[in-house]
Amino acid sequence: MPPSSPRGSSSPLGTLPGVPPVESSRPRWVLYVDLDAFYVSCELRDRPELRGKPVVVGPPPSEGPTRGVVLSASYEARPTGVRSAMPVGVAARLCPEAIWIPPDFTKYERASREVRSVLRRHSPTVLPFSIDEAAVILHDASMDEAQRTAETIQRELASELSLPASIGVATSRVIAKIATDRAKPAGIRLVAPDEAAAFLAPLPVRAIPGVGPKTEGLLRGLGIQTIGDLAARRPSELVRPLGTFASELVSLARGEPRPDPDTSEEPRSRSTDHTFARDVEQWEELERAVRELAGELATSLDHEGLRFGTVGVALRWADFTRTQRSRSLGAAREGTVPLTEAAVRLARELWETERSSRRRPVRTLSVRTERLVPRTQKQVFLDEFR
Ligand SMILES: [Mg+2]
Repeated sequence: MPPSSPRGSSSPLGTLPGVPPVESSRPRWVLYVDLDAFYVSCELRDRPELRGKPVVVGPPPSEGPTRGVVLSASYEARPTGVRSAMPVGVAARLCPEAIWIPPDFTKYERASREVRSVLRRHSPTVLPFSIDEAAVILHDASMDEAQRTAETIQRELASELSLPASIGVATSRVIAKIATDRAKPAGIRLVAPDEAAAFLAPLPVRAIPGVGPKTEGLLRGLGIQTIGDLAARRPSELVRPLGTFASELVSLARGEPRPDPDTSEEPRSRSTDHTFARDVEQWEELERAVRELAGELATSLDHEGLRFGTVGVALRWADFTRTQRSRSLGAAREGTVPLTEAAVRLARELWETERSSRRRPVRTLSVRTERLVPRTQKQVFLDEFR
């Protein structure tokens, strides 16, 4: 057994192949939060009388022929076979008694922000993946703490926002995501690192994010149906059909997924956004909102002791398309003034480019900071040896 290095002085030897790294008893946990039937849940907050009924959010089929798709179906509608992304006409045939609600994205974006602000209470690192999915990273927590935090988050989302959520908890993002899908609806599934291979083994290969019908078909052709079948193969056997994806898949199947891209443990970016109650057509109104959001963001970075090297602004237009622009500030800066000045300049550039052509009004504004670094050298030092 190699001599154990004292905590806080991990030597470069710890990274050599064959030499086990310094043991950390408090790993990094990923809490993958996925809201259940999100658009439907948002609608039920306003129309509680529809709880327990088959509700579908999507362009109502009664409004004439439409090529639209179902955006979200309540769990009461799902036994009929109705699913999100299904053509409206098909869904209407499968579930004629469904109650249709036209989508209201402003409402969903607002709810999504509310959710993120609940999540940020529990960690400074919240990674949003979509309007209804985000990962909360707990940097130094025991398994019990991770489980309890997931329970608290689920309870807060239900009691404060009336939004049911499922949460998968694991030490990697991909396993946490798979666990979330298994926890639905309204469940929590924690997968301990030494339990990962056994948890994955009975699941179909399609449970793996990134494995679609095509890869599934390829694997089936090789006699591989479950993730356990995959774990039993040598990656070299699968390189011909799958290329570089082969070794990644087999490692995951064995419960040893590739490290998450954000394992630097450093927060990479922060952003905040605002969807306007009415689409904005005046620069002055947009500028006011940019100043407000930039100020909000600067304050929250200040609380976390972070400086920023890059500022970005994104505008979502009335037709839902999005344009963005970002700029490096050179050295890392801090405070409201540099953030606001940069954000206003970027927003102005986006606005003027738009004015010279299509002149669409603005629905949503977001302000973002990247290349975040701790404010003092001392913090960098402590973080390095955590
Ligand atoms: Mg969801």
